[in-house]
Amino acid sequence: MVKMVKVKYVDRPELTNKERVFFLDFIKGMKITIKNFFRKTITTYYPFEKITPPKRFRGTHAHRVKNGKEPPSFKVLEKFMNIKEGESRCVACYMCQQACPVPELFKIEAVQQLDGRKKVVRFDMNLLNCMYCGLCTEACPVDCLIMTDIYETASYHRAGCVTHIDDMSKRAIDFDNRRYDEPDRIWIDDKERSKLWGQIKWS
Ligand code: SF4
Ligand code: SF4
Repeated sequence: MVKMVKVKYVDRPELTNKERVFFLDFIKGMKITIKNFFRKTITTYYPFEKITPPKRFRGTHAHRVKNGKEPPSFKVLEKFMNIKEGESRCVACYMCQQACPVPELFKIEAVQQLDGRKKVVRFDMNLLNCMYCGLCTEACPVDCLIMTDIYETASYHRAGCVTHIDDMSKRAIDFDNRRYDEPDRIWIDDKERSKLWGQIKWS
């Protein structure tokens, strides 16, 4: 049975004579408009003005590679994998896919080699279906899957929105070269932002 919802109507308050004669509401509105008119603009004239997002920005995904900076968990799992220096450190655990609200967007394949160790041969993500929530990166036990500061991902073809393991590895190398040593702040000072908004003062 459909439950009826009662709608409560509220009468619109009557304007007082003073409000009617002196347009008080209009003046109040104009006061706010004029105040904001003289404030410094905080929007940017994209794409002519571009600002660097903070390091924690949830942009396009990338795969960190084996480079000697892996967490201890990788050292344990590495024994079961065939991963060379400079290759994606993915151990094909599927934790990212499990954590994702849209698991179909992942295509992960690993094969067992003659020596019994595994090798990841496919790691595709269809970013058209991604909501950039970051749950997949949180789930990765070896700090392989990360999100970068790259946000310009438009493509003329749907296929261009599917990212592959090699591209992801290159993206992570580029991202880490630029930002690995940067403090992990929510926001950053950078030249572009300083130019547009002035210097941000950290407490
Ligand atoms: S960011 Fe969210 S939606 Fe996108 S792949 Fe990761 S978990 Fe899935
Ligand atoms: S969670 Fe990390 S290691 Fe596991 S499959 Fe995903 S990217 Fe690879």
